Amino acid sequence: MKLFDLTGKVALVTGGNGGIGLGLAEGMASCGATIAISGRNAEKARAALARLRAHGVKSAFLSADVTKRSECQALVAATEAEFGRLDILVNNAGTAIRKMPQDYTEAEWHEVLDTNLTSAFLLSQAVYPAMKRAGAGKIINIGSMMSMFGAPYAAPYGSSKGGIVQLTRALATAWANDKIQVNAVLPGWIDTDLTKRARQQVPGLHERVEDRTPAGRWGTPHDMAGVAAFLASPASDFVTGAAIPVDGGYSVGM
Ligand code: NDP
Repeated sequence: MKLFDLTGKVALVTGGNGGIGLGLAEGMASCGATIAISGRNAEKARAALARLRAHGVKSAFLSADVTKRSECQALVAATEAEFGRLDILVNNAGTAIRKMPQDYTEAEWHEVLDTNLTSAFLLSQAVYPAMKRAGAGKIINIGSMMSMFGAPYAAPYGSSKGGIVQLTRALATAWANDKIQVNAVLPGWIDTDLTKRARQQVPGLHERVEDRTPAGRWGTPHDMAGVAAFLASPASDFVTGAAIPVDGGYSVGM
């Protein structure tokens, strides 16, 4: 058995049209997986598909808004229709609204929770029948340092990312016997569109992250490739329910 071989496997990556999602997708593409990337922005997706095709694999962009239950279900069906199977689901689509807790509207709370947490639950439910039938499957959920730590401007975001870890553990225990492994990745601070906005909104954030991270730098989407290859491949067949920081040491340093 080749531990990291994904030839013949099909992965669906929500938010795979840029940032961390594209980094995760490229990690799996480099192991031979066919990749369906999803999101709302088709222009970003064009550039992402060019990057994926450079790995010599098949790929497609399937547009979907993951806050809508019907679009989650249609996305899974479209992936299976396009490529004939679905072996790996990466729940990566995410958003943040930064405010003090007292200032959020209920609609803003739901926007963050629906995008980051409820979509992961709905998509996992939607892929379960195919994975059970196939007798194998991999689900990778994207958490955050805010799965562990609190921040004053991140009540809904932190709640969603803490929830991702518990959702991961629940699904892992429920589906281990079906040979479906469910794990979470907890990225440290990674340079993407999301954190470009954070750096504009949170004074001093850029320098604080560099100082606090033992590796002394921000991460890049490419830093996510290895963990995706591991968690999507046979190398991780006895790893389930884990939450793996990929953070340059941020979560273990003082
Ligand atoms: P980006 O903003 O670059 O990516 C977010 C992705 O999510 C986009 O591709 C976007 O697609 C997609 N998305 C957002 N809302 C929706 C929606 N309603 N329906 C479908 N797709 C949606 O940020 P990152 O790459 O940084 O974030 C990716 C994940 O990593 C998120 O879950 C984030 O919370 C997490 N994370 C990021 C960290 C960082 O430091 N960057 C640290 C820890 C976790 P589109 O633009 O097409 O709508």
